[in-house]
Amino acid sequence: MLDKVLIANRGEIALRILRACKELGIRTVAVHSKADRELMHVRLADEAVCIGPAASAQSYLNIPALISAAEVTDSSAIHPGYGFLSENADFAEQVERSGFTFIGPRAETIRLMGDKVSAIAAMKKAGVPTVPGSNGPLGDDEGEILATARRIGYPVIIKAAAGGGGRGMRVVHTEGHLLSAVTVTRTEAHSAFGDGTVYMEKFLEKPRHVEVQVLADGQGNAIHLYDRDCSLQRRHQKVLEEAPAPGLDPDARAQVLKACTDACIEIGYRGAGTFEFLYEDGQFFFIEMNTRVQVEHPVTEMVTGVDIVREQLRIASGLPLSITQDEVELNGHAFECRINAEDARTFMPSPGKVTLYHPPGGLGVRMDSHVYTGYSVPPHYDSLIGKLITWGADRETALTRMRNALDELLVEGIKTNTDLHKDLVRDGYFQQGGVNIHYLEKKLGL
Ligand code: ADP
Repeated sequence: MLDKVLIANRGEIALRILRACKELGIRTVAVHSKADRELMHVRLADEAVCIGPAASAQSYLNIPALISAAEVTDSSAIHPGYGFLSENADFAEQVERSGFTFIGPRAETIRLMGDKVSAIAAMKKAGVPTVPGSNGPLGDDEGEILATARRIGYPVIIKAAAGGGGRGMRVVHTEGHLLSAVTVTRTEAHSAFGDGTVYMEKFLEKPRHVEVQVLADGQGNAIHLYDRDCSLQRRHQKVLEEAPAPGLDPDARAQVLKACTDACIEIGYRGAGTFEFLYEDGQFFFIEMNTRVQVEHPVTEMVTGVDIVREQLRIASGLPLSITQDEVELNGHAFECRINAEDARTFMPSPGKVTLYHPPGGLGVRMDSHVYTGYSVPPHYDSLIGKLITWGADRETALTRMRNALDELLVEGIKTNTDLHKDLVRDGYFQQGGVNIHYLEKKLGL
């Protein structure tokens, strides 16, 4: 087992990783910016190192500072969490080259999946269903671009191969707008991601976002932990998630779950990962793979009983998966509400001092949060201050528990989006299950 892990992240996920390390008897090193001295995991870690000023570029994204911190603390591995450097292949490579274990896939896998064109090609080859599209980057030949769109059928979406975070995409409804959209997306992609490569996909009009959690040990074993539905999104940011995804076509689901584990073996995947799909009319369409632990991983943990971060640590230690596919049992239903420090209506961030914090509790209620009474939410980072997760033997029970838990949650001194969640868990369509990715924005009148 790894001996000492440096946690290259902050907030709730840093605390989540710290807890998993403690359970496995692994010593921990917290790294933090000057604005983050008061973070809960910094107090609880065996050692803490300040890696730079508040700005992420000079702290949590500062590769030399992170590697020096690993060196001075004699750490054996680095866990990148999510966001920041978690999907940066150069970081993974430098970590390994400096003699530390990167807790995640090999750098070349991250690179393969970071380029959406190569990711889609690899998935197609492995038998994962993809969105009808250009099958590769768009070239310069205008006649060919027009012909590709005609073959796919309008509307189409032009996407940057290096895109992420919902940026670098443009929907085109008619032929007259196609060529200019390609040019603009290319230019934007070039300036935003340093890579002007774009490709084309059929634009699906009312899909759901359904994703598959996988674990692979890089020793020939791969399993899936079923699916999650993350369709409730605002500006491509997930707001409320659940597991399993309700009402999927059973045959399509079984096929896609198997295709995901087969693909892991085919590409030699190592670690935890997520295959993201759009799901429409009973069909799955792969859009991208995330090569890290995801914010919404707890809903899967609640319905499978598998500790995903613990598995990541075991895999990085060179151990095989602790469970086989046959041993994975789906039990009940779980929801997760992302609690953000922001106004529930305007979505304006609301940093500041939390004067009272009272997390909900009881059977089937889990609160993953670094917040405590007296903690000041700094203005420099993502506004996520906690994740409220509920489990129930069935969807209705889990949802009732979420309603009650949200009523119990008290965060005073700053604004949070709790009222938005209270509204969502009482929404008639959401209660039925299976709303599409546009539902939340429509409901909000956006
Ligand atoms: P990113 O890496 O920026 O998150 P994705 O490829 O995952 O990009 O797409 C982000 C979101 O954009 C999806 O969740 C979906 O809402 C929308 N989207 C992407 N591709 C399509 C498509 N072919 N049809 C409809 N919506 C799409």
